[in-house]
Amino acid sequence: MHPETIAVSAGRPARTEQAPVNPPVVLSSTYVSTGEPAPGDLIYARSGTETWLPFERALADLEGARLPGLLFGSGMAAIAAALDLVPVGGELIIPRHGYHASLVAAHDLTVRSGVRVTEVAIEDTGAVVAAVRAAARRLTGSDTPAATSVGTPNGPIPNGPVLWVETPTNPMLEVADLPALVAATHDVDGLVLVDNTFATPLGQRPLSHGADVVVHSVTKYLAGHSDVVLGAVVTDSPDLRAALLDRRSLGGAVAGPFEAWLALRGLRTLALRVERSQRTAADLAERLSGHPNVVEVSYPGLTTHPQHERASIQMTGFGSILTLRPVGGAAGADALTRAVRLWVPATSLGGVESSLERRRRLGAEAPTVPEDLLRLSVGIEHADDLFADLEQALAVAATYAG
Ligand SMILES: *Cc1c(COP(=O)(O)O)cnc(C)c1O
Repeated sequence: MHPETIAVSAGRPARTEQAPVNPPVVLSSTYVSTGEPAPGDLIYARSGTETWLPFERALADLEGARLPGLLFGSGMAAIAAALDLVPVGGELIIPRHGYHASLVAAHDLTVRSGVRVTEVAIEDTGAVVAAVRAAARRLTGSDTPAATSVGTPNGPIPNGPVLWVETPTNPMLEVADLPALVAATHDVDGLVLVDNTFATPLGQRPLSHGADVVVHSVTKYLAGHSDVVLGAVVTDSPDLRAALLDRRSLGGAVAGPFEAWLALRGLRTLALRVERSQRTAADLAERLSGHPNVVEVSYPGLTTHPQHERASIQMTGFGSILTLRPVGGAAGADALTRAVRLWVPATSLGGVESSLERRRRLGAEAPTVPEDLLRLSVGIEHADDLFADLEQALAVAATYAG
């Protein structure tokens, strides 16, 4: 079935007479249970509850996975579990531009687990492949002790290098060549983990390109209303899923029943929201390109984007994030964020309301991100209203020029 249909129909209760159309919110920390539990039995709500399952089933269907996904208490909880797949003494390759907390968590592994972390320009396929091969050589080289593999109930997980991919990257919107990077990493017995938050499963399905694990900040487009913080992972490997489930149960960063229900409620309109916001993002990117008060616009859907062709092949939509560098530098960009009346000046993205942020205002952002770069998350308002608001705010920014 088509993703638009899956988003609406997956995870509904069985169609029996008098059954509700939506799953119930069940508030229970424990379940009646005697004797030895059968596999999949509900026992205790940290290990599994019926309130997560409908969303986990729907997300897996959208990502094209046979196994249900795993819902977490936040995107970072899901990412922490995924990064725990990197064995002690292992090799991790990460993008130089990416969600800042993911990059910090990756570098933490160096201190905590002796993991060697290499930063790469993820859009530079040659450089990433070289880094993956160099990491594999170090792991198998006689001078380095072999990395300990992560055990799962089904056996060990491949202990080659782990490649962490964001595509498009936050906030630079660089696009990685997923099939090429997956082939090169699998060639050396490695794993490819993809943060699919920006693209959503409607824009790209990393598992279909061979990726091993997909992670989401459900907080963003999937839930879509800026009212919950949640995360998820999806994989089609029973071994990896078992390891990730262990991390969730032991780490305990689990979702509340009401938040899980809201995420499924939000997911129902994902296709409509993404269609509209994507169309508006493309429209705004066109209108802002060449605008006298704009230095630069970046959007994967623009033919001027360096990886536009790659994105056209690999993605089924170019997403709803664009970046903008206004005339007037960082001070002008800050003034713009104070001058907008419709756009919400706030961090985060993927809500029905359009929002924007100058990323370098946060000290943690990579120094290679331009000081004056604004990240725009396009919502579902009318494109003309969004453009008019930006135009008047760009005029304010321009007073800071020269
Ligand atoms: C927001 C975000 C995260 C973190 O998710 P939380 O739900 O805030 O924990 C990870 N990756 C990307 C790309 C994000 O935008």
